[in-house]
Amino acid sequence: MAIFEHLSFDEHEHVMFCHDKESGLKAIIAVHDTTLGPAVGGCRMWPYDSEADAVNDVLRLSRGMTYKNALAGLEFGGGKSVIIGDPKSDKSEALFHAFGRAVDSLGGRYYSAEDVGINTSDIMTAHEVTPYMCGLEGQSGDPSPFTALGTFLGIKAAVKHQRDLDSLEGITVAVQGLGHVGFDTCRYLHEAGAKLIVCDLSAEQLDRAATEFGATVVGLDEIYSQAVDVYCPCALGATINDNTIPQLKATIVAGCANNQLAEARHGEILKQKGILYAPDYVINAGGIINVSFEKDYDAAKSEAKVRKIYDTLLTIFRKAEQEDRTTGEVADEMAREIIIKARQAKA
Ligand code: NAD
Repeated sequence: MAIFEHLSFDEHEHVMFCHDKESGLKAIIAVHDTTLGPAVGGCRMWPYDSEADAVNDVLRLSRGMTYKNALAGLEFGGGKSVIIGDPKSDKSEALFHAFGRAVDSLGGRYYSAEDVGINTSDIMTAHEVTPYMCGLEGQSGDPSPFTALGTFLGIKAAVKHQRDLDSLEGITVAVQGLGHVGFDTCRYLHEAGAKLIVCDLSAEQLDRAATEFGATVVGLDEIYSQAVDVYCPCALGATINDNTIPQLKATIVAGCANNQLAEARHGEILKQKGILYAPDYVINAGGIINVSFEKDYDAAKSEAKVRKIYDTLLTIFRKAEQEDRTTGEVADEMAREIIIKARQAKA
């Protein structure tokens, strides 16, 4: 497998394959860019079909973190890690110690945190062998509630831009995935008067959403074609693709999942169809913003910064409209400008 010629390789500074025989750890850490500071980004644990899928994921996710951290105004570079394995059956103390040692070997160039398949207690286990973990118990903790707040505010910004509405009363939202972020996003939406249509693999989460929020439950493949105002992807990536775009009736795509567009060209197709897309790494920055307050944690300061996601997205939506470009292009450009300025200031 070629890495330097890989389609998702974007001049990453460091890509490290980590193996530990005793614990069975197979992980990849990608440090994309450290111009703005040490690379910070979560660790995902997933039973990837192939190593190639894991490589692709970590390269894309780490690049996304560089842009996310830049646009969120953080002094962090971008990085990410993946552990190849099933989070339901393959976790052990030895595995997270081995992962922690791998992170430690980078000497602070990369800080890890939780992502899909990983929870705060896994991070605490890894933290026993390395200081380079964040989202720690007793400090900033679980980032998900802040990601949910940012996602909710991002949906509000999209509705404001497209419909000039300040309220979500009566707005319908199809939420795909009721995990750490999706469920709390539903709560915010429900409290704001939105109507919810939901899907998930977990019958328990679906029952909770139906009971607590009056959500309508649909099948996994039915979520795209719902007659709603907003499609809110909160599960895994690449759900905006050639197969799903023709099914969408929503005029807004705004959710927390990373890498929502299967390919960059899908952003252009959404634009042509008049569907407003909230760039994933902008709308889902709430968690990393919270992590940035790790030392001397202050929840109020963190929340105030998360709330800025609303204005950042409005700026991106307006610029994209004025310049007839996709929202993704505009966001990427804004992030790159921040990084280039920082590089020039260092030179
Ligand atoms: P999670 O693992 O807690 O939740 C994911 C949920 O999606 C689970 O309930 C799972 O059952 C469901 N799911 C999986 N496949 C599905 C499918 N095909 N259809 C419907 N539901 C499905 O993860 P999370 O922490 O809530 O993160 C969700 C997404 O948001 C991920 O893409 C993650 O990378 C991204 N994200 C999370 C954070 C955070 O703070 N947790 C921050 C930024 C981005």
